[in-house]
Amino acid sequence: MRVDAKTSIYGIIGKPVTHSLSPAMHNAAFNKTGINAVYLAFETDSVEKVCDAIRTLGIRGLSVTIPNKESIIGFLDSVDETAKAIGAVNTVKNEDKRLTGINTDWIGAITAIKSVIEIKNKEVCVIGAGGSARAIVYGLVREGAKVNIFNRTIERAQLLAKYFGCSYSSLEALPKATGDILINTTSIGMKPKEKQTPVLKKHLKNFSVVMDIVYSPLETVLLKDAKSLGIKTVSGLDMLLFQAVGQFEFWTGRKAPVETMKEALRYAANG
Ligand code: NAP
Repeated sequence: MRVDAKTSIYGIIGKPVTHSLSPAMHNAAFNKTGINAVYLAFETDSVEKVCDAIRTLGIRGLSVTIPNKESIIGFLDSVDETAKAIGAVNTVKNEDKRLTGINTDWIGAITAIKSVIEIKNKEVCVIGAGGSARAIVYGLVREGAKVNIFNRTIERAQLLAKYFGCSYSSLEALPKATGDILINTTSIGMKPKEKQTPVLKKHLKNFSVVMDIVYSPLETVLLKDAKSLGIKTVSGLDMLLFQAVGQFEFWTGRKAPVETMKEALRYAANG
């Protein structure tokens, strides 16, 4: 990698970010495409100072993660309609100190799902009503799916369902749920509680595709159970890959080297 006085800087902001897999993907993409740029991790939760800093230092673009995705909106010059509808920005581009925010999380999820099944008219059960559920439900509704949201805090499920015109249920109703696609957007099953699963294996038979957005561990109990029943699966790593592909293309205006990014991601994720 060449680093000189003309090297452009990109990065990720959030807290924590030292575990992030994004630097591996984006640096591999810059290398492959010959773009003179580096991508770094900045651990911070002060979005106002970050926005000042990127204008001052000429940082060209940022990925934005927890806890900054909502709070950064007030410090940007413009936010596209999609990010407005989702209420969160995960990508910022700096053009001559003008900061634009978009959301590629929904693109990541939808692209990953569409690699195994068409979404239009499918019945989709979404577990969770947090930030990532919001982006995914937005994408599913946009693609013409019928969505049912299941959440521990029923009021949050109700709010999200009302906003996007979906139905909602309590988590207790999940064992009896049926549909084409089941998506876990909660942190259930994530390390260090990797033995947990949001839905028992015996209740998965009602679905044709199961997706888990948790990617640590790479294969959650939910995905293992689904695979063992012969159900098609979509991993959280695929969502992560395709949201990064969207970011690269937004920043550079060039087609992303998807296979290179995928390889770098798998390598980094395997430690
Ligand atoms: P969030 O906004 O904090 O929402 C968390 C959701 O999980 C809420 O619906 C919450 O329910 C539910 N939840 C948490 N612990 C639970 C438990 N023990 N039992 C039942 N429900 C529980 O978080 P987020 O930003 O949506 O992120 C959620 C997960 O997605 C994280 O593991 C994150 O790493 C992962 N993620 C992956 C990608 C990717 O690209 N693959 C992208 C973003 C996030 P309540 O409303 O009841 O609290």
